[in-house]
Amino acid sequence: MAKVIDSKIPAGPVPEKWKEYKAHQRLVNPKNKLKLDVIVVGTGLAGASAAASLGEMGFNVINLCIQDSPRRAHSIAAQGGINAAKCYQNDGDSVYRLFYDTVKGGDYRAREANVYRLAEVSNNIIDQCVAQGVPFAREYGGMLANRSFGGAQVSRTFYAKGQTGQQLLLGAYSSLSCQVNAGKVKLYTRYEMEDVVIVDGRARGIIAKNLCTGKLERFSANAVVIATGGYGNTYFLSTNAMGCNCTAAVQCYRKGAYFANPSYVQIHPTCIPVHGDKQSKLTLMSESLRNDGRIWVPKKIEDAKALQAGTKQGWEIPEEDRDYYLERRYPAFGNLVPRDVASRAAKERCDKGFGVNNTGLAVFLDFSESINRLGIDIIMQRYGNLFEMYEEITDVFPGDVANEINGVKYYKPMMIYPAIHYTMGGIWVDYELQTSIPGLFAIGECNFSDHGANRLGASALMQGLADGYFVLPYTIQNYLADQAVWPKVSTDLPEFAEAEKKVDAELDRLLNIKGKRSVDSIHKELGHIMWEYVGMGRTAEGLKTGLKKMHELEKEFDENLFVPGTKEGLNIELDKAIHLRDFFTMGQLVAFDALSRNESCGGHFREEYQTEEGEAKRDDENYFYVGCWEYQGKGNEPELIKEPLEYEAIKVQTRNYKN
Ligand SMILES: Cc1cc2nc3c(=O)[nH]c(=O)nc-3n(C[C@H](O)[C@H](O)[C@H](O)COP(=O)(O)OP(=O)(O)OC[C@H]3O[C@@H](n4cnc5c(N)ncnc54)[C@H](O)[C@@H]3O)c2cc1C
Repeated sequence: MAKVIDSKIPAGPVPEKWKEYKAHQRLVNPKNKLKLDVIVVGTGLAGASAAASLGEMGFNVINLCIQDSPRRAHSIAAQGGINAAKCYQNDGDSVYRLFYDTVKGGDYRAREANVYRLAEVSNNIIDQCVAQGVPFAREYGGMLANRSFGGAQVSRTFYAKGQTGQQLLLGAYSSLSCQVNAGKVKLYTRYEMEDVVIVDGRARGIIAKNLCTGKLERFSANAVVIATGGYGNTYFLSTNAMGCNCTAAVQCYRKGAYFANPSYVQIHPTCIPVHGDKQSKLTLMSESLRNDGRIWVPKKIEDAKALQAGTKQGWEIPEEDRDYYLERRYPAFGNLVPRDVASRAAKERCDKGFGVNNTGLAVFLDFSESINRLGIDIIMQRYGNLFEMYEEITDVFPGDVANEINGVKYYKPMMIYPAIHYTMGGIWVDYELQTSIPGLFAIGECNFSDHGANRLGASALMQGLADGYFVLPYTIQNYLADQAVWPKVSTDLPEFAEAEKKVDAELDRLLNIKGKRSVDSIHKELGHIMWEYVGMGRTAEGLKTGLKKMHELEKEFDENLFVPGTKEGLNIELDKAIHLRDFFTMGQLVAFDALSRNESCGGHFREEYQTEEGEAKRDDENYFYVGCWEYQGKGNEPELIKEPLEYEAIKVQTRNYKN
């Protein structure tokens, strides 16, 4: 019988033991009571916005990131945009509607209250960013422009060409820089958190590795916030930046933080297909392209076969022989169905043999109709940099005319296929974004909070900035108010020494395996297992096989890994080995959760549980909960703890994007 938890952990009284600590001089500068220090790990949109806001509010912030500059965090990859319920298009949008779309898009597996708060603060985010100078696209009259993203029938996505994440991060970075300049934020670049230090049941600091010198350093504070992003790279090939890792989150999980809904992994429908086995990265083509691009495969299997053989090109297939399968299956939303639905539909067509490239694993995204209707200039204004990116990678420019049939011009279509993109699961947090370890908070993609089983496009940036600018800076104070009388602890405490010793021993262990296989070769194999058995279509049998294969491969990692160099100085292979160690823990967690959830919902599709039309079949009677996992040691099955979901405002029903 699984344990059941509530979404609100009471902060609890200050332990009696603190008095003892004070007497034994275990506190740093006990007279300086009101100086509260907060560690923020991460400088992506969530981390940078939180660090800047906390600094502005008067806290002393220690802010770390693994890159050489906060401006290079993974968040800069975000292309398409950020949602807000401003209703600038006068199309009936509202806070309630954004809230409703997000809950429905998440297949009714998100916490209702969190999502409502997110929708409420969405408009403030846009105002904040405009005030920082973020150059959002504007209409001719000066109003901020919008475009549409999947899962919504209104236009509420604010954007800066195809570089929204970068522009938002530059805004957050300028605020952060002000606080660095004011002395409120101390920035540590090229530092990686390796462990969280728990003193008397509360997070009191971290152990971080200086990635340039290899030295381990101790940091102490009154609270720790992790904003370290998602775990998509567990799958090796993903749209995530190469440096994305889940080491900080997994280490918090090992120290007792619950990990929620790990099986909710998002597979994005519009990525450039895999083109060989030497690839280490996949490229996203923004969902915004689905505003004007139409997705199709041939109606006739012989046309598909000819495309696969290379004896025919997409533009040679006339209109009547094209199957715009999303428009056919989901007339109300068409090409703008949510990502999980669009990805599964592409897989269904390709599994049936209608794929359009040499591997049979691609569909077309075609701009012919919109270029003919709007002209190439308008399309280039909207997606110019995305077209150029596509050309750079594939040598095909989607704005080039390729054919003319019955007086209609046909342009070269893009080829796309689903790929791992985002992780809805993450460290479990309560309504105040505090994890199950008091004093440890998690924000942005690394927590599980708002997206349920599937995230809607343009909602990750909204959530990261909501957490960083408008939620955490307030909720953390409920915890810190209780802590104000207890200044931060000394890093000389045995708890710090022990945590550092363990991290150091792990570095030695990895370096001393001295086997024959590189980190990447094992990681790639893990990725294959994940994609094959824990990917887009899962079965109980496949998940068990996947788990077995992961155990075997982890043994290979422990016995046959080769890490060159030493732990002194820069050693990128060693850093990657640490990440891979944690991807193993993560991969197994995803599989355990997927195996325990005998239903299909959002990004978690169990082939045994589908409707006759191939849609996800939920089981609300048995699985209407957040699945939280508690670590039970390496090699052991984690324990499932349930947080029941309670919906008051929204009626839980089967998702419908058809009418
Ligand atoms: C190609 C692509 C396009 C996207 N487009 C959109 C979009 O248009 N709209 C949208 O809403 N979302 C989009 N997303 C999703 C969105 O970009 C991410 O979810 C979001 O940026 C995550 O922000 P974050 O701050 O939580 O984490 P990240 O941006 O991943 O930042 C993590 C930070 O943590 C640091 N870090 C990590 N581990 C450690 C450690 N152990 N120690 C110290 N520091 C550490 C890193 O240095 C970094 O600073 C896109 C994602 C991708 C991959």
